[in-house]
Amino acid sequence: MEKIGILIETNNGEIKAANFGVITAARKNGNELYAFVLDCTGNDCEKQLQEYGIKAVITITSPRGAIKWHPVLWAGAIESAMKHFGINTLFGLTSAKGKDLLPRIAADLDAPLVMDCIKVNPAEHTAEKPQFSGKTIATIKVKGSHYLFGIRPNAIEAVPAPCKAETIVFQTEVASKRMTVETLRQGPSRGVELSEAAIVISGGRAMANTENFNLLKQCAETMGAAVGASRAVVDAGWVPHTMQVGQTGTTVSPKVYIACGISGSVQHFAGMKTSDFIIAVNTDPEASIITKCDYYVIADLFKIVPLLTSRLKDALGRS
Ligand SMILES: Cc1cc2nc3c(=O)[nH]c(=O)nc-3n(C[C@H](O)[C@H](O)[C@H](O)COP(=O)(O)OP(=O)(O)OC[C@H]3O[C@@H](n4cnc5c(N)ncnc54)[C@H](O)[C@@H]3O)c2cc1C
Repeated sequence: MEKIGILIETNNGEIKAANFGVITAARKNGNELYAFVLDCTGNDCEKQLQEYGIKAVITITSPRGAIKWHPVLWAGAIESAMKHFGINTLFGLTSAKGKDLLPRIAADLDAPLVMDCIKVNPAEHTAEKPQFSGKTIATIKVKGSHYLFGIRPNAIEAVPAPCKAETIVFQTEVASKRMTVETLRQGPSRGVELSEAAIVISGGRAMANTENFNLLKQCAETMGAAVGASRAVVDAGWVPHTMQVGQTGTTVSPKVYIACGISGSVQHFAGMKTSDFIIAVNTDPEASIITKCDYYVIADLFKIVPLLTSRLKDALGRS
């Protein structure tokens, strides 16, 4: 049994659902789990965390109150909490924030770090992660005094294990000589975060232009999905690179991935092959995605997507 710290990420103060898969991964062998929380303002953060077996919810602050987002200060504050509570293993998400924080903490602690893990065995200090565009799964064994693992969002199914969590406020003094955060600007809202969405609907070259992506956006809004794209679409300048799924874009692992007018190149597949269910909408029965998906519709996406949106609205009583 080990003590494991979990770096909890939030979205507008609410705990991101992807954290619960991370907690489930760390819970193995009855490990004692400590949630590190820096910016959770939602009412029932503790309640949600104890549903998944967290032993202690540690809210990290400075003597002057909450520590505003600053990668150096946050990394220092988490290290300080790890030291205080005698925790040598830290789990987080391979998300934008996780990619900023976990390597900093690993560098400061001179600790091994494995990102994009799909399975971790904390007792053995091993992790599995896809490599070479998902063609192989590497099992990596790490050695050190501390261990850090970044879990691929949604790669591990969240399984509740309710318990009673202790609530602790931990104050620490952190400073950064070299870096200050002047302003934080919210980018244009893209709805559900692509890398962490439970449902993704993506468009390929067949979308033909930027405006047609509104069809996918409307459908996505109806079912709480994120919108993705193939590289052909990004290269054409119809959507930003942040929406690209694949080897040179974002890796997604949703429960459902709907590929509309996407042929299914190996490079696109590398970014979505771990989806639970893949559904293809394509006019070409010979398209390579057809042999790689769970369900397909051989039809024009411009007919199917609006139909799907309208049927979903009917089912949800939102017509
Ligand atoms: C080093 C490298 C890295 C790459 N990284 C990525 C990456 O990260 N992500 C990525 O996506 N690609 C990547 N690519 C590009 C990749 O090889 C493909 O070129 C790209 O994925 C093709 O995009 P597409 O499927 O949208 O277009 P296409 O291959 O042109 O497919 C369009 C599909 O739409 C179908 N279609 C046409 N009209 C309709 C309609 N009305 N309704 C329904 N279906 C229709 C067609 O039958 C076809 O199957 C990379 C390539 C290289 C060399």
